[in-house]
Amino acid sequence: MKILMTTSETVPFAKTGGLADAVSALSLALARLGHAVRIVMPRYFCIDRTKLEQLEGPLGVRVGGGEEWCAVYTAELAGSTKKNPVRVYFIDYERFFGRDGIYGTPAEPDFLDNALRYTFFSRAVFQLCRKINWYPHVIHSHDWPTALVPVFLKYGERNGPFADTVSVLTIHNLGYQGIYSKNNYYYTNLDWDLFYQAGFDDWNMMNLLKAGICSADKLTTVSPHYAEETKTPAYGFRLDGVLRQRAGDYQGIANGIDTEVWDPQHDPYIPLPYTIKNVQIGKAAAKEAIQKQFGLSVNPDIPLIGMVNRLTDQKGIGELFGPTYGCVWSLCQNIAMQMVVLGSGESWCEHEIRNLSARLANFKAQIGYDEKISHLIEAGSDFFLMPSRYEPSGLNQMYSLRYGTIPIVRNTGGLADTVENFNQDTGAGTGFMFDDLTPQAIYNTVGWAVWAYYNRRSSLAAMQKAGMKHDFSWKKSAQQYEVLYKATLART
Ligand code: ADP
Repeated sequence: MKILMTTSETVPFAKTGGLADAVSALSLALARLGHAVRIVMPRYFCIDRTKLEQLEGPLGVRVGGGEEWCAVYTAELAGSTKKNPVRVYFIDYERFFGRDGIYGTPAEPDFLDNALRYTFFSRAVFQLCRKINWYPHVIHSHDWPTALVPVFLKYGERNGPFADTVSVLTIHNLGYQGIYSKNNYYYTNLDWDLFYQAGFDDWNMMNLLKAGICSADKLTTVSPHYAEETKTPAYGFRLDGVLRQRAGDYQGIANGIDTEVWDPQHDPYIPLPYTIKNVQIGKAAAKEAIQKQFGLSVNPDIPLIGMVNRLTDQKGIGELFGPTYGCVWSLCQNIAMQMVVLGSGESWCEHEIRNLSARLANFKAQIGYDEKISHLIEAGSDFFLMPSRYEPSGLNQMYSLRYGTIPIVRNTGGLADTVENFNQDTGAGTGFMFDDLTPQAIYNTVGWAVWAYYNRRSSLAAMQKAGMKHDFSWKKSAQQYEVLYKATLART
């Protein structure tokens, strides 16, 4: 099949979140299955043009009342095979993408012209195919920035060489929908009656993701459990009704992880690489390194709880670190354990974490983003804590399982799909889980895990091994997408 990924970010060119990793890993995995995969994304200012190859001639893209003229660059995606490389195309247009930031900057988190920027980009996708004379069987779009692509395909573009093209839209996080003033609808060049018919309307605003959800042939999200949750008001961010309407075309396909970067056997950031056979020795060395680096007392026999996260409400930081009600203070005061946190995000939370670090001997933290330390924490912790409010896929719990670190997670989204709760009677399971996002539930579950550390060591060792045997490779996910693409093509 010829598959075109349309995306606002792809590793290694531009990344703000898991979407960028998923698009490049999925594309490479599909190419390895023999499909012809290409990716199209904007050429942001941070992407060095001199390292790319320029296509000859300009590309004319109709937006609003006029036509914008842009350039196209291309490069091969790193990690491609020689036999079947994945090619990336970059839409280059100074006015929209020649600036710092992808969706915004710290001073302007959501650029005022984002609706126009991504409307332009979504139209450019079709012009690019015409220019390179390459027409995909499947156009696979990701999140709100390219949610207009399936809309344009359904309303206007599906003719001529696109007559048999089908569209798939993947939701990586329903919390971000691209909601803008409906004045921007003008840029789409669609008739006004389609504003309602195609599903743009959202309380007198224009919702790009909603229009994409209403128009794509098939919809996916990044874990089966999250697919179910998003059809309920508690997790649906007001789109649960639309998703229920489209339930027959909507499914969850779990993300994989980069098993080369996250491999305890070949990890350059840990003191002693290890496998399932010498996991205790490898983890002990990493634990000691963390204790030394973070200024915790060096003690192999005290349970160490690690956390690496964006410090945002989605991750349950209120219940952990909220002044007066968060549970971390009492956990560290009452229980014989240590805790390390790596993260950055909301400033109140960074402030509280610094405070706790200064006042507690068994709690230490590093504020900031640090790839190396995140590997060390994954390897050296006994437990990894993720009390997320919602979690479409979640990567860290998968890294933890692969590194023999037992996750303590809330029973939600991708966490629920990848972790199995400890059964105290049989010793089965791969982690510790709780349902309610409350400080008390986190306290009790961490307490339960620490109890098991001191009293059920053999069960924990079995859990570690069970987790390390899991297959989290992208090949499995790519095969599921392949089945979905084929079924969609067969139906139309
Ligand atoms: P989300 O995409 O919602 O942030 P995920 O668990 O899916 O959550 O992915 C987060 C990724 O970002 C993980 O690979 C995690 O290790 C990494 N990460 C988050 N914060 C930091 C940090 N401060 N330093 C290093 N890596 C981080």
